[in-house]
Amino acid sequence: MESPNLSYWEKASFYSSDVLIVGSGIVGLNAAITIKKQQPNVTVTVLERGFLPSGASTKNAGFACFGSLSELMEQEKICGTTLLHQLISKRWNGLQKLRSLVGDSRLDLEINGGFELFKPSEIDLSEECVSKIGHFNDIVKDITNEKNVFNIADSKIESFGFEGIDCLIENKLEAQLDPGKMIKALIEKATSLGVTILNSCAVNHFEKEDNSILVSTSQGTFRGKKLLFCTNAFANQLMPKLELKPGRGQVLITKPFENLKLKGTFHYDKGYYYFRNVGNRILLGGGRNLDFFTEETHQFGETPLVQNTLIRLLKEVILPKTAFEIDQKWSGIMAFGPELSPIIDEVSPNVFCAVRCNGMGIAIGSQTGEEAGEIVLRSL
Ligand SMILES: Cc1cc2nc3c(=O)[nH]c(=O)nc-3n(C[C@H](O)[C@H](O)[C@H](O)COP(=O)(O)OP(=O)(O)OC[C@H]3O[C@@H](n4cnc5c(N)ncnc54)[C@H](O)[C@@H]3O)c2cc1C
Repeated sequence: MESPNLSYWEKASFYSSDVLIVGSGIVGLNAAITIKKQQPNVTVTVLERGFLPSGASTKNAGFACFGSLSELMEQEKICGTTLLHQLISKRWNGLQKLRSLVGDSRLDLEINGGFELFKPSEIDLSEECVSKIGHFNDIVKDITNEKNVFNIADSKIESFGFEGIDCLIENKLEAQLDPGKMIKALIEKATSLGVTILNSCAVNHFEKEDNSILVSTSQGTFRGKKLLFCTNAFANQLMPKLELKPGRGQVLITKPFENLKLKGTFHYDKGYYYFRNVGNRILLGGGRNLDFFTEETHQFGETPLVQNTLIRLLKEVILPKTAFEIDQKWSGIMAFGPELSPIIDEVSPNVFCAVRCNGMGIAIGSQTGEEAGEIVLRSL
């Protein structure tokens, strides 16, 4: 599609770039930053279909986590110890990169610890997790340079005020941050390095022409030497062969409490539910496992089944003795696939993708963006 009434100047300055990146989430912005930092003369334009980034990066829960114990146990069964070690390293290094790029204060990053809750009915799982604490402490020790990262924290169950929980495992290095501030800071960083970010610009189609790629969008046709898709859950809308599926995450946040005792990030029911404090509020999300079929969607939205379950969880387990009011609800879309690693690849000549952060993009997104930026740079 050709946009009407574009001037010669507009076409030259905005519609042509060495590298076109689609998607301004954590991965796209980190890729853009990497390219500009290493090669300031390379022109980089990010095309984002939303007025704001509209996928997962500004809609998530803000857990700066690298895996709860039951998740790691499950993942080790899928990929083995060596690959899991590599994966945890990537998550950990991604977090450290994000922190040094943006700074903890701009991220509102707090290391309050992460906790996994177990119900009495999960006795087999909790016993297996407890028996593996030493094993996972060994795995993460050389990555984090910390001993005893995972610990039993049953003594905190009462002070947090939980009901129906009889085992709590702490990860003392898990942190929390503000995803809105994170993306705002990354946009500022990218812009300060000379990256052009164009919003409300949906990419509909791409094709090769001579030595460039023509990218047709809702705002007209762009031309680039290289094209990088950082569209995560939406990637298979334009590249159907990619092995990933969307997964919607529904989230709610309460109004503030006067004396909230709970502080930190919390994982419940093998990570299918997650909650944390946001100042004096509680943010709670999850429940995709209640109806995987309905939640495998690119559409934002809420369902009564998930919302009612989240509210019941608040009433019965998290805040059993405290009245609460819900302030806001929203949803975001993540990408899942058969393998745990992201797909960072050249999908066809001069067309690349860096997608599928498997629900842990805060940790692995910076690393993924950086690797993708480097692959694109090497091809220039
Ligand atoms: C509810 C929820 C809670 C989560 N909680 C956590 C958490 O606590 N910790 C954690 O580590 N991870 C969490 N995640 C996962 C994390 O947010 C993602 O893994 C990460 O944000 C993915 O980043 P991304 O840049 O790959 O994708 P996205 O942030 O989804 O960015 C992709 C961008 O591409 C744009 N786009 C798509 N198609 C097009 C197109 N055709 N043209 C132009 N633009 C397009 C989209 O608008 C979007 O802005 C959560 C996700 C959700 C949904």
